[in-house]
Amino acid sequence: MRVMKFGGTSVGNAAAIEQTVQILADAYRSDGRLVAVVSAMSGVTNQLIATAQAAAEGDEHAAATLQRELLERHEAVTTELIATPARREATIARLAELAARCARLVESVHVLRDLSPRALDWIVSFGERMSVVVVAAVLEERGIPAVAVDSDRVIVTDDHFGNANPLLDETRARAEAVLVPLLESGKLPVVTGFFGATHKGAVTTLGRGGSDFSASILAHALDADEVWIWTDVDGVMTADPRLVPSARTLPAISFAEATELAYFGAKVIHPRTMQPAAERGIPIWIKNTFNPEHPGTRIGPETSTNGSVVKAITAIPGVSVITVEGSGFLAVADVTARVFETVGRTGVNVYMVFQASSQHSLGFVVRRTDASKVLRALEREFELDLLKGRVARIWEEPGMAIVAVVGAGMRGTPGVAGRVFGTLGQHRINIVAIAQGSSELNISFVIREDEVARAVPAIHDAFGLGGSSAD
Ligand code: ADP
Ligand code: ASP
Ligand code: MG
Repeated sequence: MRVMKFGGTSVGNAAAIEQTVQILADAYRSDGRLVAVVSAMSGVTNQLIATAQAAAEGDEHAAATLQRELLERHEAVTTELIATPARREATIARLAELAARCARLVESVHVLRDLSPRALDWIVSFGERMSVVVVAAVLEERGIPAVAVDSDRVIVTDDHFGNANPLLDETRARAEAVLVPLLESGKLPVVTGFFGATHKGAVTTLGRGGSDFSASILAHALDADEVWIWTDVDGVMTADPRLVPSARTLPAISFAEATELAYFGAKVIHPRTMQPAAERGIPIWIKNTFNPEHPGTRIGPETSTNGSVVKAITAIPGVSVITVEGSGFLAVADVTARVFETVGRTGVNVYMVFQASSQHSLGFVVRRTDASKVLRALEREFELDLLKGRVARIWEEPGMAIVAVVGAGMRGTPGVAGRVFGTLGQHRINIVAIAQGSSELNISFVIREDEVARAVPAIHDAFGLGGSSAD
């Protein structure tokens, strides 16, 4: 039994949906026991977020415009791909109903002038609710007995809105109740990616790019043999091909390496995807919807050395370095504990931590969009210390990026760090900070965001990762 997930570009227009449906139809005909997980059409989630924010800011046309645009885009592909009049009309009616429900939610955000994380999760779930209706209908049109399923009926999560954690035991029971009967009657469930719901039925999302995670959660729940993530590149590559055109596909990487790569910016897979799959030893394949013959990447329990200790270079642009500096850092442990307790309470994710005790400073990296929240919290916590001069200042350096060089076994191989930093030196790229005690799987450091486009290709070259040199 397989779970196959299709990302936003794989359902982004009529030609892509046709291709996705073809892949699903072939897989269904060869095996039969198959669950599809589908993302929103590309750009729709961003549009939903921006519109909800505009409504909260007072835009009175937001809801109506959104309703019209959502319907137009989904209706256009439905009209193009479904020839049978009755099916086409029923599908469009269903889409119109969903667009209207979504618009009503956006309207209430406008009335309240308040967009809570809870309301936002409800609103963004409509991207996936609409795309599965289209994909299931096109599959039926091609003779496959597909059924659209909303994942808030299946995936149970905690109430961490915007970045919820799945409750795997409860989800397994729901999958048995909802999905297994469909599979047993020969149906192909087409499940919405990206969201679940709490026990009480409040819709929660799994974080941006979370449909990959949905697929792996369902694979865990259904004891699937494999997860296939269909996207718009030939697999996990040695670098983002948009940044490094000579990047090549890695045939195999381990769960741990994939997690590390994803965590440090490789958007091709959501960082939490590996956890449920790894727990059950279910391999994950990354494949290209638009080049299905390419074998892609296998992510599994094993580490293959591939002839190179460095497997890939990744980057997270759009981050800020926050520094807490003070001469009164006599009790470093105490200050460190207070800093991270405070940051922890904000719920903001910290990517990297570094400390230079000789300069009495403690630094860490967060997303730029989270920086002001963190600064405010720290200024409150250290108000008295700032007044008394025990803490000299707390400040943000925006416009930074984290770069990570990832590969298993790097620790055991001398000279990797030397080569990375030597290369940056040759290119006169200044290193702002280096992570303290990096894991065995990566070396990560901070540079200015506008140097990423030079740094990543340079390191990629230095390790001979590009072109046809390996495989
Ligand atoms: P989907 O919509 O299918 O989930 P995403 O846009 O989320 O697709 O992820 C695919 C994109 O990830 C690719 O188009 C590519 O630009 C980007 N990417 C970043 N780093 C890597 C990498 N190391 N290997 C492959 N793709 C990467
Ligand atoms: N549609 C969601 C997003 O854009 C989930 C996903 O694409 O995986 O974040
Ligand atoms: Mg994605």
